[in-house]
Amino acid sequence: MKTTRPNLGIDGLMSELMTLAKISEAEPPVVTRVVFSEADMRARAYVKGLCTAAGLTIREDAVGNTFARWEGSEPELAPVGTGSHIDAIPNAGLYDGCVGVLGGLEAIRVLQKFNFKPRRSIELVIFTAEEPTRFGIGCLGSRMMGSVLSPEKALALRDKEGCGLDELRMQAGFTGPLESVAVPAGRFHQFVEMHIEQGPYLEQEGIDVGLVTHIAAPASQIIVIEGEGGHAGGKLMPGRKDALAAASELILALEAAAKSSGAIDTVGTVGICEVFPGAVNSIPSRVRMTTDVRDTDRDRRDRVLAALEAASKEISARRGVTITTELVNADPPTVCDPAILAALEASAIAAGKSHKKMVARAYHDSSFVSCIAPTAMLFIPCRGGVSHRPDEYASPEWIGSGVHVLARTLATLAG
Ligand SMILES: [Zn+2]
Repeated sequence: MKTTRPNLGIDGLMSELMTLAKISEAEPPVVTRVVFSEADMRARAYVKGLCTAAGLTIREDAVGNTFARWEGSEPELAPVGTGSHIDAIPNAGLYDGCVGVLGGLEAIRVLQKFNFKPRRSIELVIFTAEEPTRFGIGCLGSRMMGSVLSPEKALALRDKEGCGLDELRMQAGFTGPLESVAVPAGRFHQFVEMHIEQGPYLEQEGIDVGLVTHIAAPASQIIVIEGEGGHAGGKLMPGRKDALAAASELILALEAAAKSSGAIDTVGTVGICEVFPGAVNSIPSRVRMTTDVRDTDRDRRDRVLAALEAASKEISARRGVTITTELVNADPPTVCDPAILAALEASAIAAGKSHKKMVARAYHDSSFVSCIAPTAMLFIPCRGGVSHRPDEYASPEWIGSGVHVLARTLATLAG
């Protein structure tokens, strides 16, 4: 297959990443690209142009997930997928997500350059709204593809201005029925996503690529504790119903449950704790807090939630406060596909790249693609583990190693 773009290798890819980074709602080097914003639409157009130049055929679904297809010699076979996202949270950098999209495209172009003819088609996927900035929910596009988010629930999503998903996606030109976004199992043969690690370990250990065996998934809750307020001086200690004192016990119970799970992969965090009325001389009458519990193993994670619930009951009874818990979401952790991991490992060895198996501790689109297809991820290092900041950085060598391993893996999977 002929491409109209001279293949410039890693230099070309780096300049494409820089060009994409400049399509931003903020002054460079800051990248801000919220889904369906003018910058998002221009970025999509830029990436689609590069895909078309590489001879790929573009298709978009009703929520804007974009599929750029390199037709295989047996086009009736389910394709192999790769890709990630190009939206970016406010004040972000240029590698998160984009490395998996433009790096995935570069892997395809490398295969084209070597005259490789895939048996299965290879589809580069650009997922809509991996970041939760606009609608408060992460991985919107892949979540809908995996039927983890229903069209009804998607229709209820609104941004801060009160604009609904339906209106915004229509304005962006994505008009089909939302029901059509769900992808049946079997539509993709396999899927592999390249991404920066967003942690420091590959760089610290001097390892070229990480082969992701598990993707941890969070369960998050909103917990409201209602006690009894009063004057901090006037009301003596006996009989107090201090909501913050109760919350403190609950926070420590969560920490203890996460620490004693028996696995290093269990983490539990209270990131928000709002105290009412919030005055120095007033007993806290009400606390609203969030919990975020993550693990690679669903049962183990759910045991932490159960321990928290038991602690809530005990604290509530002993202190005479009311504790209500709302489960916001509890997504399934992902076990990555052994066959793809074997292909990734063989590819790393063949490419002469050092590698280690590791766990992804943040959400990724792959978490939801894994509901419909065997999935794995390939991590490359990022400097200092920094991500979601303008100084996020991955060197051309790191990206080049990732592209090399990804290209070989796609060649293996597409046969
Ligand atoms: Zn990302």
